[in-house]
Amino acid sequence: MYAEELRRARRVVVKVGTSLVTHPNGRLHQGRLEMLVRQLSDLHAAGLEPVLVTSGAVGAGIGRLGAEGRPASLTEKQAFAAVGQGLLMHSYEKLFAEYGVTVAQILLTREDLEHPERRANARATMQLLLEWRVLPIVNENDTVTSEEIRVGDNDTLSARVAVLVDADLLIILSDVDGLFPADPRSRPDLEVLSVVEELSEELWSAAGGAGTPGGTGGMRTKLEAAAICQERGIPMVIASGHRQGVLTEILSGEVPGTLFRWPHGTARRRGG
Ligand code: GLU
Repeated sequence: MYAEELRRARRVVVKVGTSLVTHPNGRLHQGRLEMLVRQLSDLHAAGLEPVLVTSGAVGAGIGRLGAEGRPASLTEKQAFAAVGQGLLMHSYEKLFAEYGVTVAQILLTREDLEHPERRANARATMQLLLEWRVLPIVNENDTVTSEEIRVGDNDTLSARVAVLVDADLLIILSDVDGLFPADPRSRPDLEVLSVVEELSEELWSAAGGAGTPGGTGGMRTKLEAAAICQERGIPMVIASGHRQGVLTEILSGEVPGTLFRWPHGTARRRGG
């Protein structure tokens, strides 16, 4: 029934977290990047319009400069991001080039997304890049954002990007298989929810606040992303980024994770 809406998706935002794209020591995980780039290139070749939202700048900067384990000040994190963002883009650009896909870097802040003129500029630029068949690669502009003014996590950033570009679907690739009805660390017997149609109190309390080491997100920020998508009626999927061919699988209508869809009164609104 909802397989059809997944098969019809054309403009698809895909988010990958730090724990997927980097090793625990911060080095970029080339094998995973390759797997991701191959899948995104296949979607691109099939005429879809993928947009990648990637974390890993701070992690990769730490990996390169060897500051692992040291608590970093805000300025240090910003400096790590400045180093790591270059490393990330270098890897993506090299890998996508092998498939003949041109990429563009878009670094956004919360202010860019909220200020009418900057938002309109970001929207128009991304629109044009997609018309040119260029694949936008988005991250937060960590180097210039302080704690108070950052989006702070790429789960909600990816949802805001999905709204900005009028995406048909947001896919959050994680190192977990989807959304569990309670904390799976205390209830290992639980299975992921396959479909969520309402962000109930139970889900919010089950999501708690914990994220993964190295990344900033957790289930809570994923639910916040879902709430942003819900407002615009954009379906969202959480699935494991470790799964071979996961993007193709989702877009052929099989969700090996959790699908969030909004049948109750959330007519699709467009207009960024
Ligand atoms: N923008 C951060 C980075 O690239 C990641 C934020 C997050 O992990 O959600 O390191």
